[in-house]
Amino acid sequence: MPSRLEAKAYKILKETIMKIFKFTIVLVVLAFCFVLQGSAQETKIKWFGHAAFSVTTPKGKVLLIDPWLANPLNPEAKDGKDALAAVPKADYILLTHGHRDHVGDAVEIAKKTGAILICNPELSGNLVKLADFPAKQAGTDAIMGIGGEIQIADGEVTVAMTPAVHSSSVFNPKADASDAERAYGGNPAGFVLIIKDGPVVYHSGDTAYFKDMETVGEQYQIDLALLNIGGHFGMEPRMAAKAAKSVGAKLAVPHHFATFPGIAQTSDGFAAELKRLKIPFYEMKPGDVIAYRGKQMVKK
Ligand SMILES: [Zn+2]
Repeated sequence: MPSRLEAKAYKILKETIMKIFKFTIVLVVLAFCFVLQGSAQETKIKWFGHAAFSVTTPKGKVLLIDPWLANPLNPEAKDGKDALAAVPKADYILLTHGHRDHVGDAVEIAKKTGAILICNPELSGNLVKLADFPAKQAGTDAIMGIGGEIQIADGEVTVAMTPAVHSSSVFNPKADASDAERAYGGNPAGFVLIIKDGPVVYHSGDTAYFKDMETVGEQYQIDLALLNIGGHFGMEPRMAAKAAKSVGAKLAVPHHFATFPGIAQTSDGFAAELKRLKIPFYEMKPGDVIAYRGKQMVKK
């Protein structure tokens, strides 16, 4: 039989342990909330390889740009994996132009997620007619033209469509012998995304360098420029670095390289030229995510 003193000591010990336990739980919950809130305030940008990026806003909206997720660089598409499985949610699909390496898996993703299409009207119309893109998601007021701006995600994001010097056509899988294999895809474009409490992001599409990129830089304070650098079909690395300068990029990230023969296989030339121009460079690996809190990059 424990003495009364021992029983009291045991009771105090038990109460103290319970208090510590409750206090620890409160601390863990608070830390968890803090982490959740912290990550909720971040803008996350993921590269899937080639020109395909996702942008997740601080409020959790997911924008996919040129979503060729099944491209050979995407680690989530290797070894027979279903690249779409890694994208359970998408709110918007932005297409710079109609070429297959940019439209990519847009139709399947739209069917799976209900995402709204953002592109020019000719591309939208032909994707519905020829590639069975869900009409309801392609016929909204998110269809736009170069020079225009639209608000999406309840005003959290402003999308500006910028010029691009390239071409645009839609592959027609239904073409028979008398049809052209490629239908009209409207004008090619780039996008500037102005994210509330986040960075201003420029995606160049496949454009060649053009001097009026300076106007894009005058109009928008570009925090992050995602630039095609592969050459052959678009900017050679040296001109892509010049583009970074023209748009006034605070950070330049390359894409559209090393995916297939004919385009640059490394970003070395781009990095060297940026160094000469004193513009910060960052190379994402396919599958990488970078995060911004406000306009400040917090993880890379
Ligand atoms: Zn391309």
